[in-house]
Amino acid sequence: MKLHEHQAKELLRDYGLPVPLGVVCLSPPEARKACEAMGPVVIKAQVLVGGRGKAGGVKVARNPDEAEMIAGNILGMDIKGLTVGKVLVEPALEIADEIYVGVTTDRAGRCNSLMISAAGGVDIEQVAEETPEKIARIRINPALGLRDFQVRQAVFQAGLRPEVIAAAPKILQGLYKAYIALDANLAEINPLVVTSDGQVIAADAKIVIDENAEFRQSALEKYKDTSADDPLEAKAKEIGLNYVRLFGTVGIMGNGAGLVMTALDEVKRAGAEPANFLDIGGGAKADIVTAGLGLILSDANITVLMINIFGGITRCDEVARGIVAARKTLDIRIPQVVRLTGTNEEEGREILRGADGITPAGTMEEAASTAARLASTGR
Ligand code: GDP
Ligand code: MN
Repeated sequence: MKLHEHQAKELLRDYGLPVPLGVVCLSPPEARKACEAMGPVVIKAQVLVGGRGKAGGVKVARNPDEAEMIAGNILGMDIKGLTVGKVLVEPALEIADEIYVGVTTDRAGRCNSLMISAAGGVDIEQVAEETPEKIARIRINPALGLRDFQVRQAVFQAGLRPEVIAAAPKILQGLYKAYIALDANLAEINPLVVTSDGQVIAADAKIVIDENAEFRQSALEKYKDTSADDPLEAKAKEIGLNYVRLFGTVGIMGNGAGLVMTALDEVKRAGAEPANFLDIGGGAKADIVTAGLGLILSDANITVLMINIFGGITRCDEVARGIVAARKTLDIRIPQVVRLTGTNEEEGREILRGADGITPAGTMEEAASTAARLASTGR
């Protein structure tokens, strides 16, 4: 779950981070009024996507007239497919330096990591890609937490200016505390600004909450905004299906997370791109199978369907009958490859062989290579 910048800032303020005092505005006149009270302001699109600055969603207004006009331009703007419905208006900062700081889940390190770079700002992705040595990374022992000596080590390694070195411990410890307390998998300030008069302020804030922890973060429920969610993933959540949208053309369904993940790998290995992950679980009934197939098929990119089933408790002949029936009820016209293994697999495959548009397969490799071949010939 992603939080909006203004929400993240609100939360980080409680952890002692220096955050500008802004107001959220829904209309140009509100932005004008805010500017009348604050003097020069920065007006920032509040959408759940990065790169707003480069997209023209962050602009400085020197007076109320400009504020009203700029807010009018940004409100309603489309940024990467999301419509801007609110802006954050804050006193503009005189920026001397932009620093990157972030805490994130480090899967390779099996811990949380702190990252700092003197090369913060809108080009941090490029820095990470081209000159990763400019980003200091400190692994945090989960039992010990972030130690002060580690903070010092990080700021020296990053080559920060003296005024930042002085302000850093409080900011970094606060950020880490917030990250842990909020069950985040990302808490990031980019840029942490050094102003021309030497103040250090969080000009931007990004927090992503681990979805698996949402149940114990009930205070964050009010922040939930589904506008940036993928519509198919949202629908899947509604009907209780384990579905992740990907970008390819091979629709995939299986009963068991491992089975589906392996199917994704095999499809890739066969030279095609999976369109989704969908695990319908063991012992799924016909209505779940139908709902799952319906979901996959509402992705317009799909040119072939690959089903990967292990028949344990549910017998393969029963599964096969279900698949053949679903092809009729859902009026599926794209080719379907079905890999069945387990109890009564031969009977199952025999049933599939009799159906139009369905190719049975005995192994996952065979299913994946058939699916890849069919995908390349198109719908
Ligand atoms: P992002 O592009 O979505 O990450 O949005 P940011 O909030 O990081 O803003 C992008 C850039 O706008 C920053 O890197 C700054 O260079 C600039 N910016 C942000 N706030 C201010 C401000 O108060 N004053 C000025 N002059 N520039 C700002
Ligand atoms: Mn930013």
